[in-house]
Amino acid sequence: REKHLFTALVDELSRAGKIALCGHVMPDGDCLGAMLALGLALRQMGKRVVFYSPDPVPEMYGFLPGVHEVQVEINEQLPLELFISVDCSVPDRLGHFKELLDRAGRVVVIDHHAGSVAFGNVYLNCPAFAAAGEIVYELLTMLPVVIDKDIATCLYVAMATDTGSFRYDNTSYRTHLRAAELLKLGFPVARINKLLYEEKPLISLQVLGAALQTLGISKCGRVAWMSMQRATLHSLNATDEHVDGIINYPRMIRGVELALFFRELEDEKYKVSLRSKYYLDVNKLAACFGGGGHPRAAGCVVNGKLEDIKSRFLEAALKELKDE
Ligand code: 5GP
Ligand code: MN
Ligand code: MN
Repeated sequence: REKHLFTALVDELSRAGKIALCGHVMPDGDCLGAMLALGLALRQMGKRVVFYSPDPVPEMYGFLPGVHEVQVEINEQLPLELFISVDCSVPDRLGHFKELLDRAGRVVVIDHHAGSVAFGNVYLNCPAFAAAGEIVYELLTMLPVVIDKDIATCLYVAMATDTGSFRYDNTSYRTHLRAAELLKLGFPVARINKLLYEEKPLISLQVLGAALQTLGISKCGRVAWMSMQRATLHSLNATDEHVDGIINYPRMIRGVELALFFRELEDEKYKVSLRSKYYLDVNKLAACFGGGGHPRAAGCVVNGKLEDIKSRFLEAALKELKDE
């Protein structure tokens, strides 16, 4: 069935002349890398391609080929023949670009989130793939295109970031094989890994320091959490991207199965990130609060006071953990 969907997608791509690609709100390496790789490949096929992102591209991804073309506002050059949603589990994750779903001639979806609901004309969702970039890699092998160093860079970044550098459970031997094929093309992989992980702005470490002050852990030692208030970010002159990756710290504590990170978005409105280590299905847990994601990484947005939200999550989590 999946094979059939790949073929259907190839048909859609071949037929369209004017194509828009769009990732999700608060873009990450996967949605950006997968989107840029596919767009650059489509240009090789002579397509007119525009790149959209509902939120600005984090500075750390500034080295990605084509990334400076990414636009955060709809740029009217209709009629748009094809809209491609990349790495979005639900239409809402497209932010304000969601309205293009109705205005585009055709819509295709490339995703890898388990338990999502289909949308668009062709819905290719492969939860067995660690990254949307892996799906795009397979797609490119079916298209009349050459995977050049630029495309390889984008696909590698997509795979590396969504797998925590090939450490997480979602990493399969196929992920490694696909990454190895990309490495054959000779892009500067060590340099790219330094740009991703060893070139943090000073502010990121200051934000980490502030977040560590909020570290809490449950009595049983299996749930740990941290939080970040807007006022703290403001006082450090920090933005969203400086908070990225901080949730990995509470999870790395020995004995912790579930890490939670609460980030204030507005008054009484928090973005909650969830990460588990060995077994807890955080996709399921996040779904109880209207969000979603993957078995080991998920998120949602919740209204209320921090302390109340924290209690609600802790209660729900401890219920799940008790069963183990
Ligand atoms: P993060 O915590 O890094 O923002 O997100 C982790 C994963 O959870 C992402 O891969 C994303 O798919 C998912 N996710 C994050 N926030 C939301 C949300 O508000 N709604 C849904 N459905 N998924 C989310
Ligand atoms: Mn993503
Ligand atoms: Mn992804």
